[in-house]
Amino acid sequence: MATAYIGLGSNIGDRKKNIEDAINLIEITPDIKIIKKSSLYITEPIGYVGQDCFLNSVIEVITKLSPDELLHRCQAIEDKMGRVRTMFWGPRIIDLDILLFGDEIVEDDKLIIPHPLMHNRRFVLIPLVEIAPDIMHPKLNKTASELLHQLKDGHKVEKYERK
Ligand code: ADP
Ligand code: MG
Repeated sequence: MATAYIGLGSNIGDRKKNIEDAINLIEITPDIKIIKKSSLYITEPIGYVGQDCFLNSVIEVITKLSPDELLHRCQAIEDKMGRVRTMFWGPRIIDLDILLFGDEIVEDDKLIIPHPLMHNRRFVLIPLVEIAPDIMHPKLNKTASELLHQLKDGHKVEKYERK
């Protein structure tokens, strides 16, 4: 069994519902059990800026799947929810990224773990620190909260108030 962290993001349609639907689909996936869920956060878009704000969240799961199998399950959920892969870093109904998978380091064509941009992204580190402040980044040998504290960018990430 490995403990893994998955980052969720959505910036099209009912973003809150999209995140919740994806979490529900993960929950009913055999061999993946959700242990913790962060709050939802509103994030300014980065990359292509002419798009809506994102809602982001991070979940902790335990699984007996391999990293590859977990990626395939995540991609199946993205596909099922109707994600169309158009623009790189463009708008998306749902994006599921594997952030960490135990202390494994994976670097192949289709999968890189730890996620190569997680340590630069406030919208990943803030929800991750909320649920797992002491989790170690196995390449950088720093905890999630150390990585957040050393981030210098002023990118805006706010807690999403449930209305
Ligand atoms: P992004 O999340 O960078 O905006 P996509 O979700 O479209 O872009 O993912 C593009 C590709 O990234 C996927 O086809 C997948 O093979 C690859 N990938 C590499 N590492 C990871 C990871 N840790 N989690 C999810 N996808 C990954
Ligand atoms: Mg992705």
